[in-house]
Amino acid sequence: MFRIPHLDLPPLSTVSGRVRLPGSKSISNRVLLLAGLAAGTTEVHDLLASDDTQVMLAALAALGCGLQPDGRVLRVTGLGGRLQVHRASLFLGNAGTAMRPLAATLAVLAATQGGDFTLSGVPRMHERPIGDLVDALRPLGCRIDDLGRPGYPPLRLHGQAGGRLATEAPIRVRGDVSSQFLTALLMALPLASAERAIAIEVDGELISKPYIEITLALLARFGVEVQRTGWQRFVIPQGSACRSPGAIHVEGDASSASYFIAAGAIAAQGGAPLRIEGVGHDSIQGDIRFVEAAQAMGAQVRSGPGWIEVHRGRWPLAPIARDCTAIPDAAMTLAMMALYADGPSRLSGIASWRVKETDRIAAMAAELRKLGAKVEEGPDFIAIVPPPAPAWRAAALATYDDHRMAMCASLAAFNGLAPGREGRGLALRVLDPQCVGKTFPDYFETLFAVAGAAPQDVPVITIDGPTASGKGTLAAAVAAALGWQLLDSGALYRAAGLAAQWDGVWPDDEAAVARLAGLLELRFGDGEQAGRTWLRGREVTDVLRLESTGQLASRVSALPAVRQALHGLQLAFRRVPGLVADGRDMGTVVFPDAALKVFLTASPQQRAERRHKQLISKGISANIDSLRADLEARDARDANRAVAPCRPAVDALLLDNSDLSIEQSVQQVLAWWEQRRPFEA
Ligand code: C5P
Repeated sequence: MFRIPHLDLPPLSTVSGRVRLPGSKSISNRVLLLAGLAAGTTEVHDLLASDDTQVMLAALAALGCGLQPDGRVLRVTGLGGRLQVHRASLFLGNAGTAMRPLAATLAVLAATQGGDFTLSGVPRMHERPIGDLVDALRPLGCRIDDLGRPGYPPLRLHGQAGGRLATEAPIRVRGDVSSQFLTALLMALPLASAERAIAIEVDGELISKPYIEITLALLARFGVEVQRTGWQRFVIPQGSACRSPGAIHVEGDASSASYFIAAGAIAAQGGAPLRIEGVGHDSIQGDIRFVEAAQAMGAQVRSGPGWIEVHRGRWPLAPIARDCTAIPDAAMTLAMMALYADGPSRLSGIASWRVKETDRIAAMAAELRKLGAKVEEGPDFIAIVPPPAPAWRAAALATYDDHRMAMCASLAAFNGLAPGREGRGLALRVLDPQCVGKTFPDYFETLFAVAGAAPQDVPVITIDGPTASGKGTLAAAVAAALGWQLLDSGALYRAAGLAAQWDGVWPDDEAAVARLAGLLELRFGDGEQAGRTWLRGREVTDVLRLESTGQLASRVSALPAVRQALHGLQLAFRRVPGLVADGRDMGTVVFPDAALKVFLTASPQQRAERRHKQLISKGISANIDSLRADLEARDARDANRAVAPCRPAVDALLLDNSDLSIEQSVQQVLAWWEQRRPFEA
C-alpha cells in the first residue's frame, strides 16, 4: 500500500461534534483468540479492523478456524480445543497481543496434541521480550526453541501427540515486565486443565492489572471462571474449556478515546463539547481511568454507558504528577497534555513504555524536545516542562512506526492555544502518519472531522489553468499525496449549468441561474464513494463530465451573480488539514492568500489529444480537430470574460506539462510546496 511520507497539520483551534471510536485492540484480539479456540460459532460485533487484528485473523485462518465476515459482524467458528492444522508458520507483524497469547496457546497445543509452529514478526517484534513467558512454559514440558536472540521472537513451538504437561506445581511467571505474559498463560492453560486445576503464581509486582481484568472478564464470557487471590495467584478450575457465548460486542478502544478526551480538554468550548461514542463509564478497559487523570488536569467530563463528553475546564491545564501504572498506554496522552499546563509535570510507573512498539520514553522525550519542551527521562519516568510561549517551534515529529506516537503527535497541533501564544499557531508535521493503522486506521480523518482552524491558518494550494490541461487529475493526486481536501470548482459551475437545464432556465438568465447556484444541492462522495457526485440526490458523476455540460458551465460562469452565488460554497471547502483547489480563478479571486499557486498549461494540440483519448476510452467517438476548436473557443471565452478571467495570478508558478507525465507534474508541485514549509529537511 502507498503510504504518505508525512502529514502537515495547520494550527488547530477548536474541536466539537461527535466521534465514533473503533473497537478496542485489546478486546478484539482476545475475543478473536478465545472464539478461535472455543467450541461453537461466535458472532463478533464491532471488531476493530486494523493491522494488529489482521495478523490475528490471518493466524486463525491458517490454523483452520472458520471466519465469515458479514457487514459489521464476523462469525468465528472455533477449534473446540482440538488442533486441525499441526504445522504452520505465522507472521504476527508487531502485534504483542497476538504474539504472546498465540505463543502460549500453540506451545500448549503442540506439547499435548503434536505440532510444529513458528511465530515471527517485524524486526521490532524481534526486540520485544518474550523470555519470561517461555521460561514459564518450558518447565511444563513445552518445547520452545529460540530462532533468534534467546528470549525474543522468532520462536519455534513443537511437540508430539499424546504429551502431558507437568501442571501439578503452580506455574510461576514474572509480572513486572509485561502483563501480556500472564494473559497468555490464562488464555492457553484452560486447554490443559482436563485432569486437574492449574495454578499460576506471579513473581514480582504485577503491572498493568487492568489488562488482566479484561482477560478475566472475557474468559468468563467464554465460560472459564478463573479464581484469583489478590494479584498473586490465579487458579483455572479443572475441566475449564472455552465455549462460545453466542454473540459478543467489542467496546470502543479506551486508549484511542484518550486523544479525543485530551483534544476536548484543550480545545472544546462548554457550549459545544466533544462527544465520544463507543466507550463510557461502564467500560471494562483500564485505560478508561485516563478520564480521572484528564479531569485532574482540568478536563470537564460527563459520561454515561457507551459515551463521554468533554470540554475545556481549567485553562491553562493543571500540571500533573502521577503514577501511571494503571494506564500505561493512555499515559502517553498525558505527556502531550503536559505541553499545555502552567507548570512541570511528571509521569512515573511507565517502565513498560520501554518495551512497547518502540522505546516510548526515549521517543516521547525526543519529540517533545523538538516542540520546545524541556524533558528529563529516567528508567520508569518522564518529566516535562512545557515550552514558554516564545520557545514553541514548528516541528516535524517522528513516529517510530508506533501508532500511539503518531496519535499523540497530532495533539501538538493545538499549539496556537498554548498559554501566551494567543492564536500565533505553528504548523506541525507528522512523519509516517499511517502507522496509526495498527489500531486506528482512520484516526486523522476522524480528528479532522471534528477539529477546526482559523480559515487563514488552513493552507491552500491552487491549481488553475485552461480546459483539459490536466489540472483536475493533478489536483486530485496532490490532494491524495498530502492527505488534504479537494475542490473541483469546475464541478460547481457544471452543476449550476445542469440545474438550470433541468429546470428549463435559460443559461444566460443571470438572476435565475444565480438563484439556482445559491441553492445547489450538490454532494461529493468520500471514502468508498470518492470521485462520485450527486445533484439533488441524483448521481451526476458522468453527465457532469460531458463536453456539453462543460459548454453550459462556461456560459453560466461568465455571469457575475452566478460567480458570487458560488463564492461562499467554495470558501467552505477550506477545511483542515488543507485544501487543493482547481479551477480558473482559485489563485486570483477565491483564495488570493493561497500558500502556493500553480498555473498549469499545455499546448492546445496536446490538450485536444488528451481529451480525445479520454473520450475514446469511454467509448465516445470524437474528432481531434473539432475538439481543438472547441477548446480554443472555450479558452478564449474564459480568458476574455469581464469577471474572473482565466489567467495566472501574479504570484503563480507556471507549469507547462505538455511533455510531463502526471507523476512528474505531481512531484513538481510537491517539491514547490516542500520549499515553502517551515520544517528543516
Ligand atoms: O474545469 P472545468 O472544465 O470543469 O470547468 C468548466 C467550466 O467552468 C470552465 O470552462 C469555466 O468556464 C468554468 N469555471 C470557472 N471558474 C472556475 C472553474 C470553472 O469559470 N474556478
